[in-house]
Amino acid sequence: MAKKDYYEILGVDRNATQEEIKRAYREKALQYHPDRNPGDPEAEEKFKEAAEAYEVLSDPEKRALYDRYGHEGLRGVFREGGFTWSDFTHASEFEDILGDFLRGTIFGDLFGFGRDRPRRGEDIKVTVLLTLEEIARGTDRKIRVRRMKVCEACGGAGGTTRPCPTCGGMGQVRRVSRSFFGEFVSVTTCPRCRGTGQVVDRKCSVCKGRGSVEVEETIVVHIPPGVSSGNYIPIRGRGNAGPGGTGDLHVYIEEEEHEYFERRGRDILYDLPISFSQAALGAEVEVPTLTGKARVKIPPGIQSGKVLRLKGKGLPDLDGRRGDQLIRVIVWTPTHLSEEEKELFRKLAEYEDKAVPRGGKGLFRRIKEGFKV
Ligand SMILES: [Zn+2]
Ligand SMILES: [Zn+2]
Repeated sequence: MAKKDYYEILGVDRNATQEEIKRAYREKALQYHPDRNPGDPEAEEKFKEAAEAYEVLSDPEKRALYDRYGHEGLRGVFREGGFTWSDFTHASEFEDILGDFLRGTIFGDLFGFGRDRPRRGEDIKVTVLLTLEEIARGTDRKIRVRRMKVCEACGGAGGTTRPCPTCGGMGQVRRVSRSFFGEFVSVTTCPRCRGTGQVVDRKCSVCKGRGSVEVEETIVVHIPPGVSSGNYIPIRGRGNAGPGGTGDLHVYIEEEEHEYFERRGRDILYDLPISFSQAALGAEVEVPTLTGKARVKIPPGIQSGKVLRLKGKGLPDLDGRRGDQLIRVIVWTPTHLSEEEKELFRKLAEYEDKAVPRGGKGLFRRIKEGFKV
């Protein structure tokens, strides 16, 4: 089944502000709240869809990925089965609407979310700086990461364990609370064992009971061709270890400024200065490309600002389509002239009356349309 568009789900347009997105989400969450639509599976689905849409659109990085690549761009952002309530990071902002729902009330069970699980360790964020050449062909990068890893001596338990006396090993405790919608019996994570159902009896001597130890690792990250600044590559299970599992490593891409080229999506732009005589008579010149040098033919009579195109010499996008190298010709006016050169220009000037077109607005348009001088 094709996934629905996040903007459509929230009923906002594509350039909606964060404030508009937030307002739209609040409206949908209230409209489709299970409490207002008891036993309506369609409302339940919409309630969850709205949360997923908000999770993505409220985060500038995720929103940018979605705008550029659609749902495909978010692969790896949510767990294997897609968005679940445990991926929703805005519960506290909407406490009045969602508080008890997300704490694992009867409605939580309806969605298969059930009870809070012990917390997963944090994700780690690292940034790699890439040149345009590396982005063009893709690369493997070795990165050093300092992280908390599951203690091998105790398997992450922190020592020998016994069932938690507070929750009797259930990992959760029941409590009665009031919310916007009335009174609920809710089930919350046991504060003592943090949901694991176990407490440490004798601490592990290696990790001092933490269940994890700090390590420094070298990880090789494969970076596919065509990435851009702000993209990131998630690496499962290489974040910090926590009682509920190990977080992920997020390798963020940052593009290094290039000596010659300016990136324009898939295309790269190169400014090429040429002389008066090259512009008038035509020439063949050498330009750098991302894969070595190339020769370019300058047609005679070229105007300053004209853009020539080297097909396929740009960057690939993530689907493998290649952009072009754009060569913007700039006719360079000489500044320090010798007497001899000045004499030649004076001579040339005698012919210029008929060579230069009338000025005024629309000159560049006329040149583009092949206006003959
Ligand atoms: Zn407990
Ligand atoms: Zn240990």
